[in-house]
Amino acid sequence: ILEINHCNKKFGENEVLKDISLSVSEGQVVSIIGPSGSGKSTLLRCATLLETMDGGDLIYLGDYAAKADPQGKSVYASKQDLQGIKQHFGLVFQNFNLFPHYTVLKNITEPPILIGKRPKEEVYAEARVLLEKMGLADKEKAYPYQLSGGQQQRVSIARALAMKPKILFFDEPTSALDPELTGEILQVIKELAAEHMTMVIVTHEMSFARDVSNHIIFMDGGVIVEEGEPDQIINHPQQERTKAFLHRFQ
Ligand code: ATP
Ligand code: MG
Repeated sequence: ILEINHCNKKFGENEVLKDISLSVSEGQVVSIIGPSGSGKSTLLRCATLLETMDGGDLIYLGDYAAKADPQGKSVYASKQDLQGIKQHFGLVFQNFNLFPHYTVLKNITEPPILIGKRPKEEVYAEARVLLEKMGLADKEKAYPYQLSGGQQQRVSIARALAMKPKILFFDEPTSALDPELTGEILQVIKELAAEHMTMVIVTHEMSFARDVSNHIIFMDGGVIVEEGEPDQIINHPQQERTKAFLHRFQ
């Protein structure tokens, strides 16, 4: 459903991603772990076209393709492909990124109406179902500042789901939350996994990554150092760098 081939990314002289290739198949949950500055967020931003690449290409659903411009200034893709990619791939950020002056309901319904050009009534009805599912049925008129961090993150997950994404990307969805609110978000993501939502998750929650993923990728210094099944990577890592990184979580 997603293929990233030989992705390279530089910021000035800083080579942040060096020849990263990975593929995600339908229904798979892939977690990306690794130290701060290893390029995890940049990889997600390249995959969702928020960032351009200096080399490599992306293939979505075997249908939509985007190719790096060697100058790193843009992405080569037809207008149709760009739109398809942007509509079908959602990203949930660590700091929620909700519109502060919109209600919860408007935060969720605006993208499908404006970008998806879908009928209002249908979008509103679906948004209410999503809010119910997120345990926020009574919050549709609230503004983000009136909600806890965990509730705000559930709204941003509902907002991403409202676009009916083919893949949902999460960038450290719990790192801005107090420990007691982290569990509720991890639970929501586990439920999505049980419904076979295809997801790519950057996380520092190792036991969560082990429980929820089909595949774990360990990145360091802009390269994939080691990847494999969760039990293999978390409990039996082969590479010294992976062992040293995981050691910090024990
Ligand atoms: P963390 O775990 O702290 O979130 P990360 O693995 O997500 O780290 P990135 O945010 O991808 O790491 O950053 C990788 C490198 O790219 C870092 O050296 C960072 O300073 C650099 N970088 C990221 N974004 C930019 C930018 N917009 N301009 C310049 N350098 C950047
Ligand atoms: Mg990051």
